[in-house]
Amino acid sequence: MLDLSGRIAVVTGASRGIGYFTALELARAGAHVIACARTVGGLEDLDDSIKALGGSATLVPFDLADMNAIDALGGAIFERWGKLDILVANAGVLGTISPIGHVEAKVFEKVMTVNVTATWRLIRSLDPLLQKSDQGRALILTSSLAHRCKPFWGPYSASKAAVEALARTWANEIERLPLKVISVDPGGTRTAMRAQAYPGEDPETLPHPHEVARVIAGLAGPDMNETGKLYLVREQRFAEYTQP
Ligand code: NAP
Repeated sequence: MLDLSGRIAVVTGASRGIGYFTALELARAGAHVIACARTVGGLEDLDDSIKALGGSATLVPFDLADMNAIDALGGAIFERWGKLDILVANAGVLGTISPIGHVEAKVFEKVMTVNVTATWRLIRSLDPLLQKSDQGRALILTSSLAHRCKPFWGPYSASKAAVEALARTWANEIERLPLKVISVDPGGTRTAMRAQAYPGEDPETLPHPHEVARVIAGLAGPDMNETGKLYLVREQRFAEYTQP
């Protein structure tokens, strides 16, 4: 059984969907969860669910577009715990699905800000704290769209390709340290983002986020010793990149 007692975990996008249930699974395993998102109601609902399990959480409502808030998060974690064991960089936005040339500049910029720049700022703010853990684990949520480059998904695809490049670069830089960094592709999951992308799809045909979250939480444990790789949740296996 997954035992994360005494571990401190940051989960972004914890107000709903995959992030909510991943935070819940980490707390169930004994981790103290630092739950981040903008929607206070969603975070409070998570807090109630975690308390009902006998677990504990710290709620940090903020917008990931606020880069100073990301820096402040690192400072606050250092003050209170002096280290961080787990980062689940899960928050993301889809943007619009349309031909590249039709995407509004503000939509493209928002996708890049939330999905890419904020992920880099999280790495920059939290890497020193994760390096203080004897078993640091960073899970960066990606998508098959990073590789598939499907027509009309330009901003989202480009953002996920960038996030995977950040994760791999980070992993290569710290490969001799205990900290492990992987990209995680959850596969199609029954969430608000998926419904936005595929409005005609029957959600019941997709896995519920709690099923996906159980697998993701397992990757934050001591048995996960891979780094710089891509994990496919649906297939429950690591995929090799062609370049080391
Ligand atoms: P979701 O249900 O739409 O949830 C997204 C989460 O991100 C929410 O908690 C949201 O919280 C947070 N978020 C969005 N913008 C934010 C901002 N500006 N500041 C702070 N938090 C923000 O999405 P999901 O389907 O669970 O997706 C989770 C991750 O999995 C994403 O990275 C997504 O790209 C990836 N993924 C999902 C699927 C799928 O089928 N669902 C497939 C492949 C990859 P607030 O709105 O409360 O801020």
